[in-house]
Amino acid sequence: MIDFGDFYQIIAKNKLSHWLEVLPAQLAHWQKHNIDNRFNQWLNSIKHLPTITPYYIDLLHSVTAKTEHPLSAGEKQRIEQLLKTMMPWRKGPFHLYDIEIDTEWRSDWKWERLINHIDCLEGKTVLDVGCNSGYHLWRMVGAGAKLAVGIDPMALYLCQFEAIRKLLGNDKRAHLLPLGIEQLPKLNAFDTVFSMGVLYHRRSPLDHLYQLKDQLVNGGQLILETLVIEGELHQALMPGERYAQMRNVYFIPSVPTMINWLQKCGFSEVKLVDISQTSLDEQRKTPWMTSDSLADFLDPNDSSKTIEGYPAPTRAVFVARK
Ligand code: SAH
Repeated sequence: MIDFGDFYQIIAKNKLSHWLEVLPAQLAHWQKHNIDNRFNQWLNSIKHLPTITPYYIDLLHSVTAKTEHPLSAGEKQRIEQLLKTMMPWRKGPFHLYDIEIDTEWRSDWKWERLINHIDCLEGKTVLDVGCNSGYHLWRMVGAGAKLAVGIDPMALYLCQFEAIRKLLGNDKRAHLLPLGIEQLPKLNAFDTVFSMGVLYHRRSPLDHLYQLKDQLVNGGQLILETLVIEGELHQALMPGERYAQMRNVYFIPSVPTMINWLQKCGFSEVKLVDISQTSLDEQRKTPWMTSDSLADFLDPNDSSKTIEGYPAPTRAVFVARK
């Protein structure tokens, strides 16, 4: 069982307190329906991780923790083994006590592409929708956020997050709740909301944008990162059964279409702040994620196309204000 009591106590005293009307019942329901052998094994791994008080933590430039004296080879190997029970590790990397969790994605590169273009996070309460392992939650804390809340419905990612939290000395500035965005009440309470790598997985992208808006305070900022295609206003790609082997990709807008969608949903100050093609160095197979990755999803004869013949993944970051 994961205990969300600390989180309830924190929000009982702040502007998220209304959430308590529904959250404990939702999480109790989730726990009841997600207990299986694998979940129990992951919980067991977390339990067996040592409680370490880091001597040095850096969340501003990376996610790094160190002890004053290096761990013994045996301790290091034990921690690594426990963490490897929670594979695949997709979003990172984490540098913890000389253990390098080399994840499928260089999520730090995504962060670097956006951090200089968004409102300062100092003292802010922020939400990361689809936070996966919680990598960016720690970077939000590193950038000054007072409270970073992530939601992601997958049990594995909750466990990865709790493992990292434990290794960071049980830091309580970031929290992950196993929920989908559609389960959130209209909180109107976050200063900044991030939705990165989620929009194209939603069957209804405009509803997703409204749901994100409902989480923001008036004047709050949305950071939206998504796959985009080259194209004109009103164009979007609706792939067939798969896009880059993913079955759950619904709409990939062009940049002008994405701006239009945000404006239609009532956001102002909509701006594109970055556009980059995903490189084979940014998303790749590693010892921590050993199944197929981007190289296997591209046309072997033409890396500008996916194996289905669509444009290869290009991602854009937008900011917008409620
Ligand atoms: N934000 C991270 C991870 C993107 S991967 C990044 O940009 O690197 C997309 C994540 O969204 C996955 O972890 C998936 O579990 C999560 N997700 C899927 N459906 C969701 C939903 N309905 N609400 C919130 N998160 C969801």
